[in-house]
Amino acid sequence: MTDHTHADTLRTPIVAVLGHVDHGKTSLLDTIRGSAVSEGEAGAITQHIGATDIPLDTISGMAGELIDPSDFDLPGLLFIDTPGHHSFSTLRARGGALADIAVLVVDVNDGFQPQTEEAIDILRRTGTPFVVAANKVDTTPGWNPQDGEPIQRSMEAQSERAKSMLDENLYEIIGQLSDAGFSADLYWRVQDFQKNIGVVPLSALTGEGVPDLLTVLMGLSQRFMKEEMAIDVTGPGEGTVLEVKDERGFGATVDTVVYDGVIRNGDTVVVGGQDEPIVTEIRALLRPRPLAEIRTEKEFEKVGEIGAAAGVKIAAPDLDQAMAGAPVRVVRDRTVDRVVEEVKAELAEIEVETADN
Ligand code: GDP
Repeated sequence: MTDHTHADTLRTPIVAVLGHVDHGKTSLLDTIRGSAVSEGEAGAITQHIGATDIPLDTISGMAGELIDPSDFDLPGLLFIDTPGHHSFSTLRARGGALADIAVLVVDVNDGFQPQTEEAIDILRRTGTPFVVAANKVDTTPGWNPQDGEPIQRSMEAQSERAKSMLDENLYEIIGQLSDAGFSADLYWRVQDFQKNIGVVPLSALTGEGVPDLLTVLMGLSQRFMKEEMAIDVTGPGEGTVLEVKDERGFGATVDTVVYDGVIRNGDTVVVGGQDEPIVTEIRALLRPRPLAEIRTEKEFEKVGEIGAAAGVKIAAPDLDQAMAGAPVRVVRDRTVDRVVEEVKAELAEIEVETADN
């Protein structure tokens, strides 16, 4: 017998990038997007509202020898475009972190800085698995850049002196992770990623080590998050507000990351508001128009529905009081009251967390 009401599918894991200011979060995201696009094929990445989707095929193209795509059945990685621990800590989902996995960027010369410590505390508190990107390896004196190469290849091309200077910095970071209570090692030495944090030396500037980072993220997700990624793609959509924005012609809209189910145009949704949950009906679901078309046409295109994991702009009446970080829930075949109660409960949990900080 076929059960049409339930269709479990593996969704894309949601990835957030954190770290101290100037350690290279924005550059790393730009490089990941840029080198994915230069993989060439159409559909190498999909720009969402507030997020970028990199499909497994593209990751596999970038990672070359590091990845055997047949080892994976997760569809890829969805990177949240706004880096930083502030956005990370406000973005919750059912009491946990919205991001399924995180990249902690640490400047290999600077090591741990105040915001690195803060990010570590948040990752610990939310129990979010993470990898450390030891960034800016190209600034090691005498570095011989190997653009876009896997990091171990690049290391083979370095002088003994450069290699040992880099090693010294990397072990400093591994020591700081250990002081923070995390056992860590260079990622290729890690046997059990549940017990040890992998450190990936890389450069956002030259792209070396970026294939390794994507490989480790894919591997971690596949091995430890597969169960959480199994969702009912036809279920009522659930998401988190990234940002509330006024858009000409639409009024207040909410940029939302959908992490479960499907949101359809016309759905009744409950959105967390400043005073009380907002019950409203979706007038439009908007996505960025492909770059090539933007110049001549409107910035957004309307879609009929959007399934997890994805970023989408929701236009609906009465969204002025919506809050960043608040839950978005599709009502579908439940009662409005029940969903309102769910949203209230989730908001209360967020307030307790915020008061604790
Ligand atoms: P964020 O504040 O963490 O987002 O840091 P940014 O991405 O804005 O980077 C801060 C500065 O470091 C910028 O001037 C970048 O060009 C530079 N930068 C970032 N990554 C690298 C890298 O891998 N190598 C070098 N040499 N510079 C980098």
